[in-house]
Amino acid sequence: MVPSMGRRGAGPAIGIDLGTTSSCVAVWQHGRVEIIADDQGNRTTPSSVAFTGTQRFIGNEAQNQVVMNPTNTVFDVKRLIGRRFSDPSVQNDMRSWPFKVIDGQGDRPLIVVQYKGDEQQFTAEEITSMILVKMREIAESYLGCATDDVVITVPAYFSDHQREATKNAGAIAGLNIVGLINEPTAAAIAYGLHKRSNSETNVLIFDLGGGTFDVSVLTISQGVFEVKATAGDAHLGGEDFDNRMVSHFVDEFKRQHRKDISGNPRKLRKLKIACEKAKRTLSSTNRATIEIDSLFEDSDFSSTITRNLFEELNDDLFTKCADTVKKCLRDAKMDKSSIHDVVLIGGSTRIPRVQQLLQELFDGKELCKSINPDEAVAYGAAAKAAMLRGDDHENLHDMLLLDVAPLSLGLEAGGGNMVVVIPRNTVVPTKKERVLSTPVHKPRACIKVYEGERCTTRDNNLLGRFELCGIPSARDSSLEINVCFDIDADGILDLSIYDKTMGKEKNRITVTRDMTRLSKEEIEEMVWRAKKYKEEDEEHKRKIEAKNELEKYALKMKSSVKKVEGVIEQTISWLEATNQEAEAKEFEAKMKELKGICYSLVVEMQ
Ligand code: AMP
Repeated sequence: MVPSMGRRGAGPAIGIDLGTTSSCVAVWQHGRVEIIADDQGNRTTPSSVAFTGTQRFIGNEAQNQVVMNPTNTVFDVKRLIGRRFSDPSVQNDMRSWPFKVIDGQGDRPLIVVQYKGDEQQFTAEEITSMILVKMREIAESYLGCATDDVVITVPAYFSDHQREATKNAGAIAGLNIVGLINEPTAAAIAYGLHKRSNSETNVLIFDLGGGTFDVSVLTISQGVFEVKATAGDAHLGGEDFDNRMVSHFVDEFKRQHRKDISGNPRKLRKLKIACEKAKRTLSSTNRATIEIDSLFEDSDFSSTITRNLFEELNDDLFTKCADTVKKCLRDAKMDKSSIHDVVLIGGSTRIPRVQQLLQELFDGKELCKSINPDEAVAYGAAAKAAMLRGDDHENLHDMLLLDVAPLSLGLEAGGGNMVVVIPRNTVVPTKKERVLSTPVHKPRACIKVYEGERCTTRDNNLLGRFELCGIPSARDSSLEINVCFDIDADGILDLSIYDKTMGKEKNRITVTRDMTRLSKEEIEEMVWRAKKYKEEDEEHKRKIEAKNELEKYALKMKSSVKKVEGVIEQTISWLEATNQEAEAKEFEAKMKELKGICYSLVVEMQ
């Protein structure tokens, strides 16, 4: 349960697309969605947070100093949130991250940075909360009022744990999360509001971003957005394509210079930035050049990459995307011919090979590119936020979202088998119960809840271990324990466990959840820490602004005083040269001129 924050902003609810590489904020105003730009005019903000000896940077400012400060600049946190430290994907990502991640209590990953001369550790939820605070600030400065209510987007394929962790990040940021929305569903709203068709439309949303990949098949009819199936990979996106290119060039650098840069985070970061740029270039041309002066030990690096080679390096990943589309269509029980529109969302859908594979899969069908791939998700989130806040605009009137659970949820049975309680693609919210028997002589029991599609729990994702103790002794030979799975509209599971035989005494069973999730107390502590960091940031900002003002004033005064000094010197020289020869009116004119200049200095001094 997320603690409530107290502060209530009067402003409209906002929608935040919390992306792996960048984030976007939007608001529903005057009957339409507006994407909110920051004070520099940027409509998306890098999802990066940096720490230095004196201050914290979030967004563009963090991104701008990344090459100088790679070990204390945190990015890709969406790839970490809601995952265990031992998760193979975390272990794999850590190899390419210049910042340090350690194994915290209960297999929880902790990000370690140097901040103001001290080592600080942060959970992924805390770093995410900092990005959310920044997005809220961008919105508030545009709206001119405080706003707390927010809908945050999550990949459709996010697990229960990742969803809960994202919600906790919102709470740490002091936001009131009125709902989460799956990214492809949000994009479908943007599509639906844009196209406005009266007939039933089947759309496939293909959403390939910086770090996550989702496919959803929806039927849109008279304002009802019904998700038929969803599939994806919460760990596949542009970052992976960049990493493949980085590995290629690390090898190339070894060949060219017999030097290995793979152990140097700063140099790797520099190379990765160049690779990401080259990847974008390859979306419009067939060849891209990488040139980095003194990349390593005074050796410059220069090389080229063709679009063909880039496609070869990522061939298996692109094929995986196409296979996921086929799986989603199978799950939706729809033939590809019944899809009216294939909608491209996310920056990585600009890659020509990705588009080509999709088009081939749909027998040459034109792909829908009329929706802005970088803004559609925030657009849909803002519309949902307005809907949940009760905006009665006609476009939102009959809007109904029917989303699904992306992964099957179940319990471990004997022999490590997975017993599915809620199959994947079940419409949410939903509630299902399962009765378990336990021998009476055991006052303790352990219930393990998993998500995933494999038959053995070993191959699925453990959501939680629930240790039950204080089970009341039963009259019969075995005791029946009811396990109730309750998934809310945000896709988050609430599990309640009680003794069926002694129904009223359910409270006597103590349930211990696992340690990876944040407790209410920990969230409260993080809320406090977040406030402290924000106050420190504001104090630092005030200090810098005051220093700059003083410096500006001192320099201005110095130049004005010099100007006045010059005029005084000139007047004295003139007096000496003219001696008594000049007329009274000339002396008076000189006096007027000097007084005027001295007076303007006094005015400037105010
Ligand atoms: P998103 O999460 O939707 O903001 O997508 C970000 C990802 O899109 C990053 O990995 C970018 O490198 C990638 N991206 C953006 N523009 C292009 C492009 N023109 N070609 C290839 N990838 C791109």
